[in-house]
Amino acid sequence: MSNILIEANNISKIYDQDIFLKRGKNIYALNNVNFQLQKGDFICIMGPSGSGKSTLLNCLSTLDQPSHGDIQIFNQYISQMHKNDLCEFRYQKLGFVFQNHNLIPYLSIYDNIAAPIILGNQKSQDIENRIKILAKDLEIEGILDKFPHECSGGEYQRTAIARALVNEPEILFCDEPTGNLDSKNSHKLLKILSHLNQRDTTIVLVTHDPMIASYGKTMMYLYDGGIKSVVQRNQATQREFLDQINQVVHQDTLLYEFDQTSPLQSTNPAPTTEKIKVDNQDKAFISRQTVYMVLDGFKSDENILKNSTPLYIHGTHISYQNVHHDDIEFDFKDIQEIRMDLTAQFVIFGIYSEYVFHILLDCVSPQGTYKLKVKNKDDFIHIIDYFHQNHVKVIDPRHIEDAYHQYPDDYSRQKYYKRTHKDLLKKK
Ligand code: ADP
Repeated sequence: MSNILIEANNISKIYDQDIFLKRGKNIYALNNVNFQLQKGDFICIMGPSGSGKSTLLNCLSTLDQPSHGDIQIFNQYISQMHKNDLCEFRYQKLGFVFQNHNLIPYLSIYDNIAAPIILGNQKSQDIENRIKILAKDLEIEGILDKFPHECSGGEYQRTAIARALVNEPEILFCDEPTGNLDSKNSHKLLKILSHLNQRDTTIVLVTHDPMIASYGKTMMYLYDGGIKSVVQRNQATQREFLDQINQVVHQDTLLYEFDQTSPLQSTNPAPTTEKIKVDNQDKAFISRQTVYMVLDGFKSDENILKNSTPLYIHGTHISYQNVHHDDIEFDFKDIQEIRMDLTAQFVIFGIYSEYVFHILLDCVSPQGTYKLKVKNKDDFIHIIDYFHQNHVKVIDPRHIEDAYHQYPDDYSRQKYYKRTHKDLLKKK
């Protein structure tokens, strides 16, 4: 059975359609975001204020609908679900913890926690047992008879979590859950969330605080409504993961907020990026996978291959692994068209920094679009030839193929891209 709980395909959100007329351009709260949530994930969404964190959380948790694109929850398209089924789904499967999720002031802590299940057909003894277990886990068993105004901030927030968990949801959505807490209580809360995650609750948490995000397994960084970086904790310690998160946040601040030409930038470069490998992970979250394409019969660049996820092309059989190390295979005969685009990444090499261009490939099939970011350099021309030999329509608005013919070597081609695709060098 699939482990995918939520899948968002190319979702965008525009709150105010008239803004196009008012400001002359579309303002996206979310812009073409792809996202997959798998059972057991603990994903922390970060990004500057206004980058779309809450909007993404609201769309994924069915509280809001994207303007474009679609979301599947437990293999059902939200847009096709009846309102009642959606309510039932939220009730059965989702829990919510928000910064200002007010408890009902005239109910005791016990009744506040019980409120979501009292309306169901559960026996009062079952309800009591469940609340007792939760209260013990969350260390609020001593305050069950109190009222919300008699509780500390930490107790109040832990009660909100108990209320969110009382239905035993599969996914817990948290928006700045520690916003009202001091540091000690924030850590306590996050330890509880980690513990829940270890016992199979999947968690999506929005935070602006790297320390909070370091409790997760994955940090996803948003900027201007798009996913800019994804860092997986893997085997790293929490301390190492925190360092990696801090570097991404720091780097993105440098990349987007500061003037790159300022002399101060070149004398005070950002810390080393070796550990984060943003190059590999930028936009590679789930559906956009960074690969090195290995075509049968052609020599590969061993240096690039060593540090890359290979995508193998044997005849028309394509195989590679996505970021979750799932094996992806498809037949090239299914591909209806290929869209080629470029992306520029600002990379810091010691004191030297430079934009590096990579090719984005969207391979459109009836099943969906395989999204790739390609690390091949000069040898990519063989891949383009392969597309033509297989009679696939190639959409190439940035004339990448022409650039390969005009500038076969990577150095001069990169310089050419820099001259001719200046629009990619600034933030979108
Ligand atoms: P974040 O959570 O990262 O601070 P949000 O998702 O709240 O970002 O907001 C993303 C963008 O959408 C911002 O520009 C914000 O002003 C806008 N926005 C959010 N909610 C609304 C709304 N209800 N109506 C209009 N614009 C909104």
